[in-house]
Amino acid sequence: MKKRFKILLHFGILVSLFSCELDQNNQIIDEGILKKENSIINDKNLEKFADYYGFKMANIKEFDDFYLIEDCIGVDKQTLINGGYDIKSNPNAQARTTGIVNSTPWVIRTIRVRIDNSIPTSGVDNWRPEIAQALDDMNSINNFRLHFELVTSGSHDILIRSDNNVLQDEQIALAQWPAGGNPGFEILINLDFWREALLSIGVNEPGGWNVPSGVKRRNIVHEIGHNIGYRHTNHLTNNNGGPEGAGTIGVHEIPGTWTNDAGSVMNGGTATQTWNNFSVLDILANRAVYPIDPGESPLFTYVKDFSSTIKSHNWTGEWSEYGNISSSGYNYRGYTGFIYLYQKANTVPLYRYIHSSNNYYITTNPNLATTYPSYTLNKTLGYVYTSPGSNRIPVYEYYNNNQGHFFTTNFGDSWMTGSGWSGGGIAFYVEKIL
Ligand SMILES: [Zn+2]
Repeated sequence: MKKRFKILLHFGILVSLFSCELDQNNQIIDEGILKKENSIINDKNLEKFADYYGFKMANIKEFDDFYLIEDCIGVDKQTLINGGYDIKSNPNAQARTTGIVNSTPWVIRTIRVRIDNSIPTSGVDNWRPEIAQALDDMNSINNFRLHFELVTSGSHDILIRSDNNVLQDEQIALAQWPAGGNPGFEILINLDFWREALLSIGVNEPGGWNVPSGVKRRNIVHEIGHNIGYRHTNHLTNNNGGPEGAGTIGVHEIPGTWTNDAGSVMNGGTATQTWNNFSVLDILANRAVYPIDPGESPLFTYVKDFSSTIKSHNWTGEWSEYGNISSSGYNYRGYTGFIYLYQKANTVPLYRYIHSSNNYYITTNPNLATTYPSYTLNKTLGYVYTSPGSNRIPVYEYYNNNQGHFFTTNFGDSWMTGSGWSGGGIAFYVEKIL
């Protein structure tokens, strides 16, 4: 039997390909492997795998040590049992290093940042106002237990200084990773960034590119992010050296973040981009890794496509319930503010009900099933507010016959295209994102 193996690393799926490649004569090699076509497969892990990657169970054949999908993709049984294939997680997401800044819930840790004398106090190389702004940006994140303080004397945790020409022309800055429970100890700034690049097109700027203020600000937020352990959001696809690999610092996915977050301040290869605030997933990452109150959770939101027009929604406060996908086909689509997983003062339970049609609904009404017997209480998702307040935003409720119940913090959300939508009332209030 002639077999060809190829390792395919694609969206975290590491599989062996059999028989899919053409040989020298452009023929598909298919000998000897189609011998168990009619076996009935009963393997929950395989079902999840197929669900996640969109394969039909009917197109999977079983062999002694592996499954063969669409006569093409081999899935090793032992690897499946060991959890070696990514089913619930998304490796191309925001991630942190193994070591982060030592800190504990409910306690703010102050990080002292000092600007070295090598950073000028005036002129185009003066990054000082933007450094101060970047620290304010970090400090503006709600429920975030690190607090950055600019100091001019005494001890410091992070020193920001000139690179003294250590960095290459196209490297704007460099940060250290956390070590020993402390933030990375310094940030180097390339004060003549792109000098050579400009020279190569005939522009002689001894100080390099005159870095715009918004670009300076974004870069400092980005480097501080590295100092406290954030990897590049696009660490797998970063065209500036990706995939970056785990290395010795490690790569740990932050649940609820995902692929291709173009707005993430932690994307690599973006040294010339302007500050445009944190993305909502940046906020999630900060509040997930360093929460003051660890009982806060994003209201993770899911959608199931029965067809291009028939959909159903679902929600959870616990990532472990569905992750990126559930065995029942609900796909993660983001989060709707933050709720609490315990009953904080002034909050009420948020109930999830299931309708006899198998569609879910969330409400603070404890008596829904009494009024509408087609609904059955499924579980308490968490706790929310019933009135406005500081740092709270309303969640609006909509309904469409084909798409079921839809909840959003955006009144008139662009999700609701087409006709048939009704509603728009406030269902409850959650902790706001930005
Ligand atoms: Zn970076």
